[in-house]
Amino acid sequence: MKLTDFYLPTLRETPSECDTISSQLMFRAGLIRKLTSGIYEYLPLGLRVIKKIEQITREEMDAIGGLEVWLPHLLPRNIWDETGRWQLYGNELFRLKDRKNADFCLSPTAEEVITDLIRGELRSYRQLPKMFYQFGVKFRDEIRPRFGVIRAREFYMKDAYSFHKDEKDAEEYYKKVFDAYCRIFRRCGLKFVVVEAATGAIGGKFSHEFMVVKENDPNFIGEETIVFCSECGYSANIEKAECIDSQIDSYEFSDLKNLQEVYTPNVRTVEEVSNFLKESKEKFIKTLVYISEISNNVYLVLIKGDYEVNESKLKDIIGDGTIRLASAELVKEIFGVSVGFLGPVNLQVKKDYIVKIIADNSIKYIINGISGANKEDYHVKNINYGRDYNVDKFGDIRNITKYDLCPICKKKNTLNFSKGIEIGHTFKLGTKYSEAMNATFLDENNKERYFVMGCYGIGISRIVAAAIEQNYDEKGIIWHPNIAPFLVYILPIDYNDYQIKEVADKLYNLLLKHNIEVILDDRDERPGVKFKDADLIGIPLRITVSKRLLPDQVELYIRKTSERQVININEIINKINETLASLKNF
Ligand SMILES: [Zn+2]
Repeated sequence: MKLTDFYLPTLRETPSECDTISSQLMFRAGLIRKLTSGIYEYLPLGLRVIKKIEQITREEMDAIGGLEVWLPHLLPRNIWDETGRWQLYGNELFRLKDRKNADFCLSPTAEEVITDLIRGELRSYRQLPKMFYQFGVKFRDEIRPRFGVIRAREFYMKDAYSFHKDEKDAEEYYKKVFDAYCRIFRRCGLKFVVVEAATGAIGGKFSHEFMVVKENDPNFIGEETIVFCSECGYSANIEKAECIDSQIDSYEFSDLKNLQEVYTPNVRTVEEVSNFLKESKEKFIKTLVYISEISNNVYLVLIKGDYEVNESKLKDIIGDGTIRLASAELVKEIFGVSVGFLGPVNLQVKKDYIVKIIADNSIKYIINGISGANKEDYHVKNINYGRDYNVDKFGDIRNITKYDLCPICKKKNTLNFSKGIEIGHTFKLGTKYSEAMNATFLDENNKERYFVMGCYGIGISRIVAAAIEQNYDEKGIIWHPNIAPFLVYILPIDYNDYQIKEVADKLYNLLLKHNIEVILDDRDERPGVKFKDADLIGIPLRITVSKRLLPDQVELYIRKTSERQVININEIINKINETLASLKNF
């Protein structure tokens, strides 16, 4: 491709709305533009990277027997009602109506569609196992789109669904997909870890997340937090990591004291009240209010002042994926008091809601605790579970912390945390969808059985950003050769110079003849501009054609290592192939 025939709108300035290195570089290198919050356009250079990742993924899916299909993105409500997910999916589902006022949604995932398709197609155990996959856009109405294309509302995914005659076959196949995923991410040049993950809105028996991480980089961005145990090697998404129910704070044993109301004007947060009363945060019982979108239930959630609620665990314990934090106005309407002064003692319910109290396990161990007094500008001291308030359900509803025991080896002071970008997710679904949708086949004994299923996703557009987050420098992107938009950038210092042009054109045609993806910078620009653009877009190899080395030699520059070598033109193809092969192992 000649650059004057291409479209490469590079930017010198970083757009102000970019909140990550990868989004800055994707804008500046002319890979993407933004239409509106969380929705992006891919320009030709960006799409070339997407296509590379897509092809690697396709090859590995085909290698384990996957069959590519194309499923619709516009989905009717009825199949979502069958699984209950029309309600359960919550606000992330983009819902719309057609002209006849029928409900539809834009696909965030395709378990319903594929199960609906298969129940009419596969009838016998002899046709199993089968795995179908597709590439396509997915939609998720993120509450806060961020990190550029990493947390977008429209994104490009590979999703796959497998159907098996029994658990054993499904588990064996799960391992094959797991290995294929490792090969895909390695081929994309990514460094990743695999962690246990929460099954969330997809559900099922267990799941793994493939996460891109960057060791020794505390500034590495990522929408997920991963916990690692340095002792036993355990790793999990914080959404999933179990907190062992044990007393980890060293409360001094003390007698239960009498309740005492304290005047705490204008102090609301745990931080503020703790400073005001000069009491440690560990004694505070933080009270949060969640409401359901599908029932009249309101959940008063109690958690120790220095902990964070884990909404994924909370949803599991309550068994309702639609719960969300109630607004300050609604809290006041229901309980007659501002959220900062809410607590479990003397709770008043003013409206027609069913209120349930859900408490984190840690609450049990708090003696003479402090909470809001359900009275404006007041807190109450010395509250004790069982004597002053009751709880409908205790459970693990918080994020694990570095003070917790490792859930596996049960040792203390072994947990570390890092940020990660989720690039792949595999789920062992079991019969969750086939039962809900009555999808059956006939087994060896002519008996109807439910399909055992798995589903497997890869965030193709996310991989572009994740790869950049792992590989860049102050000059720009550094692509791994397997996903680079072009492999070689020919940079003639002055394309108007007859001799330079002649050699540059000759090299360009030679590379094309050898099927090496090449871009020739034939622009009438200063060399400085060309060098800056070449570095910014991160093509693995650059050939500089300059007067001083002609007629027989050019300079070969490796973007990743900044090495420069003078090469004889007649050796250039061998040298390029050799260097690219060595770069594939980086
Ligand atoms: Zn451990």
